[in-house]
Amino acid sequence: MNSDDRTGQVVVHLDGVRKEYGGTTALDGVSLEIRAGEAVAVMGPSGCGKSTLLNMIAGLDRPTAGTVVVDGHDLGRLDETGLALFRRRHIGMVFQFFNLIDDLPALDNVTLSAQLLGIPARQARRRALELLDELGIADRKDAYPAVLSGGERQRVAVARALMNRPALLLADEPTGALDSRSGEQVMDLLIDLNQIGQTLLLVTHDPHLATRCAGRLVELADGRVDRESTLERTE
Ligand code: ADP
Repeated sequence: MNSDDRTGQVVVHLDGVRKEYGGTTALDGVSLEIRAGEAVAVMGPSGCGKSTLLNMIAGLDRPTAGTVVVDGHDLGRLDETGLALFRRRHIGMVFQFFNLIDDLPALDNVTLSAQLLGIPARQARRRALELLDELGIADRKDAYPAVLSGGERQRVAVARALMNRPALLLADEPTGALDSRSGEQVMDLLIDLNQIGQTLLLVTHDPHLATRCAGRLVELADGRVDRESTLERTE
């Protein structure tokens, strides 16, 4: 998978990030640092700015003010094409509702992102099969999303997110649509990934997910960092 030898380096650096949508201030001066190998959970009530923060870090949207540097790239200096490439190369994303392509079998869902980067099909296929195997779903490689369980879909989505060995894996409520057993399996997977060096940023409402998977908690309120704390991971 991804054994990261960058432990301790700054992967995410946000300085004074503001984001306004019309008259609404979604982020009101957020500064935050995440180092390689960390697992950080972002929590806070609905509307506090969690998704906006994730979008800033993923380069899906731009701040009104402040700087966002991810894996050494100052996102403010990149044009739209540069941002799209940055996302494909450096970021893996996992969503609550999986966002798989229904018309493609599991394996093709996983290889697609590598092919978009111009990685030869055979090489992409080899890595995708390796990942599906490591995530325990190699036997489902030819199945379409519709026949996969929620837990299997999320594991395919995690495999897809890991294809390009991202510096940062962003997960937005990754267990939010899963029953508790599948949710626990996805949490175990995230913990395993972090233990082999994958840097994680999780956005969640679920304190259990945060305390199981993250070593640090960032609480947002009204677009600001309200509190930061170290977490004792629970079983
Ligand atoms: P959370 O993810 O914590 O629920 P969001 O980041 O989605 O919070 O939203 C923060 C604030 O910004 C909310 O008041 C929301 O209504 C507003 N907001 C977010 N995205 C947009 C947008 N595209 N257009 C207008 N307002 C938005």
